[in-house]
Amino acid sequence: MSAARLTAHDQFRHWAKNMIAHHYGSGGAGEATHGSRELYQSSTMGALLDGVYEGDVTIAEILRHGDFGLGTFNHLDGEMVILDGVCYRLRADGTATRAAPTDRTPFAAVTRFHTDFDIDIQTPTDQAEVLSAIDHQIKSANLIYGIRVTGRFSELRTRTVMEQQRPYPPLTEATEGQAEQRFADVTGVLVGFRTPQFQQGISVAGYHLHFLNSERTGGGHVLDFTLEEGLVAVGGASQLHLSLPTSGGFLDAQLSGDDLSERISKAEGGQRNDDG
Ligand code: ZN
Repeated sequence: MSAARLTAHDQFRHWAKNMIAHHYGSGGAGEATHGSRELYQSSTMGALLDGVYEGDVTIAEILRHGDFGLGTFNHLDGEMVILDGVCYRLRADGTATRAAPTDRTPFAAVTRFHTDFDIDIQTPTDQAEVLSAIDHQIKSANLIYGIRVTGRFSELRTRTVMEQQRPYPPLTEATEGQAEQRFADVTGVLVGFRTPQFQQGISVAGYHLHFLNSERTGGGHVLDFTLEEGLVAVGGASQLHLSLPTSGGFLDAQLSGDDLSERISKAEGGQRNDDG
């Protein structure tokens, strides 16, 4: 069938498809319709694993691409949380402060957060149960999802990477001396993503969540938690905008290897880094 000569039926189908897409799209003027949401990411998890801890990208640049996300800062000096358009630096001493627009990052992932569905949690639910509840409701394990969990946690365990000096050790070594923190009966937000298995090495496959308390004064990379009550909001994305560094350590980094998943799991710990 010639594409140039559409039948009346084809034209109708075209029109109907567009109408449906618009109807079910998020609608707002200038907003992407559902299904075309973008995750913007600077550099890769593999590069971080190989000790590429310096990037040229500023926080101001990252915030142009989204209002919700996570990452780290140059020299691995703290975990990053981006929430409601504000970028926070969570340091190994347990503090959280607003990052400066001129601060730089070797790895960050952001999106414009929206909610496709949410799950209301009313009874104590541990991390595995929360993640499994999300797994059951997502449309496909092959898409990317932003995850925002707002609530009260009876317990929550985080780690925070520590500033590294040159020559940089690989991430598995850098995280061996990481500061762990335990929060008890704390309110706050988990910010992060569920990433498809095929993106392992580009990102962390499975769940990657960072925590920021409600006072915005503390948090870290989440290892484990029990949610007493709260709301789990999930929003899908199907566009991946991967921005690769064109200078610095990335150019010579070793980005593959059979033990990639094992190393990511060792460095990131806690959260389930598989697709099961
Ligand atoms: Zn992290």
